[in-house]
Amino acid sequence: EKIIFNGELVERTGINIDIEDRGYQFGDGIYEVIRVYNGKLFTKEEHIKRLYESAEKISMELPYDRNSLEEQLENLVKENQLKTGIIYLQFTRGVAMRAHGFPGDDVVPVFIAYTREVERPESSMKNGVKGILVDDIRWLRCDIKSLNLLGNILAKQEAANHGCFEAIQHRSNIVTEGSSSNAFVIKNGELWTHPATNLILNGITRRVILDICKEQGIQVIEKPFTVDELLDADEIFISSTTSEIMPIVQLAKNTKSDILLNEKTIGDGKPGQLTRKLQELFEKEIEKQCYS
Ligand code: PLP
Repeated sequence: EKIIFNGELVERTGINIDIEDRGYQFGDGIYEVIRVYNGKLFTKEEHIKRLYESAEKISMELPYDRNSLEEQLENLVKENQLKTGIIYLQFTRGVAMRAHGFPGDDVVPVFIAYTREVERPESSMKNGVKGILVDDIRWLRCDIKSLNLLGNILAKQEAANHGCFEAIQHRSNIVTEGSSSNAFVIKNGELWTHPATNLILNGITRRVILDICKEQGIQVIEKPFTVDELLDADEIFISSTTSEIMPIVQLAKNTKSDILLNEKTIGDGKPGQLTRKLQELFEKEIEKQCYS
């Protein structure tokens, strides 16, 4: 298994990360996770575009152009003979004497990428999983795919502590997104999700879902909705690169919050009809992009 370190395919054990890497010290950097199906990168262009947008938003200039980066990632997948899994890639602002302000132009970003085998979560997608509502305590630039993930980590751990797959975050009673996913509800045949503002990461999976809905004439409303509206939904699901379209069939009571006093089953406790239809259409998109 090889990894990429600053543009070179090398052994994982053959690299050094400096103790003054700004990613290590400040979380000063950005990342992407790209799905690989059948040895091919799913929604590759979209992920690479978002990476460059994240870089721009934190005033970081990436040392490669898009084509070169794309080529490097494809070589990595080939080298590692990855069929089903993910690529993780990140750029930090580089190595410099610790000081909050940006280093000089002579400091170049540090780039790493590696692959991992990850199966599609078939049984969870089929049966649905449990979620839990938590306070969104993150900063106000959640649109940036930043290495700074403490808020997300604390939310996910809260979910794990309650035996849940994902934490669904809310800010001032408005449902924003999951700790590592976007959140959707279905009500009377309409799909609702938070608009792509600074308060959420505009997921690539989210965008594929919205495109599918447009094509299929499924009514989508990108609007902020409340916790009460979530609790009143016919169906709930989350979406992400690794989890695809994951039905939430139950919401756990959060012992640390008074927002949901009892556990709540969504619909009949099984993935709903429209969620299942979207899963099928999403699978078709995977086939189209990676198997034809
Ligand atoms: N929101 C957050 C906070 C995330 O971390 C992620 C992905 O990890 C997503 C949404 C979903 O984004 P994508 O569909 O691009 O994986």
